[in-house]
Amino acid sequence: PKAQNSSNLKKKESREGLEVRKSEDFSAWYSQLVQKAELIEFYDISGCYILRPASYRIWEAIQSYFDKEIKKLGVENAYFPIFVSASRLNQEKDHVAGFAPEVAWVTMSGDSPLEEPIAVRPTSETVMYPSFAKWIRSHRDLPLKINQWNNVVRWEFKHPTPFLRSREFLWQEGHTAFATKEEADGEVVQILELYRSVYEDLLAVPVIKGRKSEKEKFAGGLYTTTVEAFIPYSGRAIQAATSHCLGQNFANIFDISFEDENRLRKKVYQNSWGLTTRSIGVMIMVHSDDKGLVLPPKVAPLQVVVVPIRIRVNQEEINSMLEQECGEYVSELEKRDIRVKLDSRKDKTPGWKFHHWELRGVCLRLEVGVKEFQSGEVVIVRRDTGERTVVSKSDLYERVTQLLWTMQQEMFLRAKNIRDHCVAVAYNWNDFMAAIDSKQMVLAPWCTDTKCEEEVKRQSLEYAASRGNESVEEQSSQSGAVKSLCLPFEEELSRLHITPLSTESNCFLCHTSAKAWTLWGRSY
Ligand code: AMP
Repeated sequence: PKAQNSSNLKKKESREGLEVRKSEDFSAWYSQLVQKAELIEFYDISGCYILRPASYRIWEAIQSYFDKEIKKLGVENAYFPIFVSASRLNQEKDHVAGFAPEVAWVTMSGDSPLEEPIAVRPTSETVMYPSFAKWIRSHRDLPLKINQWNNVVRWEFKHPTPFLRSREFLWQEGHTAFATKEEADGEVVQILELYRSVYEDLLAVPVIKGRKSEKEKFAGGLYTTTVEAFIPYSGRAIQAATSHCLGQNFANIFDISFEDENRLRKKVYQNSWGLTTRSIGVMIMVHSDDKGLVLPPKVAPLQVVVVPIRIRVNQEEINSMLEQECGEYVSELEKRDIRVKLDSRKDKTPGWKFHHWELRGVCLRLEVGVKEFQSGEVVIVRRDTGERTVVSKSDLYERVTQLLWTMQQEMFLRAKNIRDHCVAVAYNWNDFMAAIDSKQMVLAPWCTDTKCEEEVKRQSLEYAASRGNESVEEQSSQSGAVKSLCLPFEEELSRLHITPLSTESNCFLCHTSAKAWTLWGRSY
């Protein structure tokens, strides 16, 4: 019984940490991680998740960065209602057709049916634009740039995944109106660049910018641009954020017009753009490891934890000096805006604390033992590489700042290097599917025809079924289908060392004349 007790104890202790490896079972690893690191609590409605303080802090970091940037562009925040009447929602037929299957309806108030059911917004074009029509009268009212930080509901039937795909999610939705198409086009890429920056400069996640195919563009829009991220472990791409040009389609429907300088009535050109809490999940999937979260310093709720390593027996005097010293490090770092915490719990061992904070993704761990205390030094351990550095306490602040900066840069470069190895080039179907099967994205010359894209989806599903992959895919409710991710911008192609298509290039699938290099992949 004694042996049994101790093994039970071990098991209980180890439950703190992750019990699945990232490389063994990626989706179980992710699911454990988001719960054990206290980011997510599951809820009794499928597809809805509780964002705990640790993940909400990350969202706040994303919000504050992006909000500052859009305000520089003259965007103002506002708030519109969560409910939409059926008549408004149905006004734009392509738009509503795109969203209809996912719209949640309120039909009752208490026991009595509502006279007319009302929808919960899946996005706010139809909520906002009737007001835009009132607010915009003259060219002097333009451009109009409104953003809202809110929640939306899309009752999706695809496999829900914390952060990546939920039925209610948090986002910002920007909605703008311009006098000319040129201005609208200009803003689409400006916002896309900000999305790139949120992912690459803040979350250290590399993305590829491009334009969506006709099949994949926003319902009711003119064209959609996107930043696409990639999760190497699952071999799946993910639409990281989108910036749409709506053209004059909604302006025609909602009659949003203005009088120009020559007193001519004209319709506005509009954009809409959105970034969601999905970004948190992408960041976690890209960087985290078997020990738990690895967070880029810019968004980590805690950047530094200080752990005093006490002497076990009868050394209370030294121990209390040690603790006092650690307290001073904490206040010094705090004064300089480093997010830091002292872990002086007496009922936990240093080893237990190391694991505890590694699981939660604290960027740097400061260890101070008696030896360090006496020599005026501190051991710093990096979360991402495990690298240990011994620094003199007089250099502490400089070294901590420098290590946080280096960690931020290196996390991005490492992720980018891996991502770059996940981009293959193919000119025919066999090479294409071989690359997809080896968990890569594929750049291929494409005719850009929607029928051809549907054929890619059909044949890739057949291929997955013939390889017996489909049962696995079905289990995880994720499709083996391949779809177009984007037609990458030229600057992206040249960064990936891809030369422009020659006039003789043919489509990798249907062999007609190819019009564009296109990025394909399995996706979330
Ligand atoms: P859309 O307005 O449809 O372009 O959506 C804006 C962005 O929301 C997309 O680019 C996705 O990155 C993200 N997104 C879409 N569906 C979900 C979802 N169910 N959960 C979280 N994020 C989502």
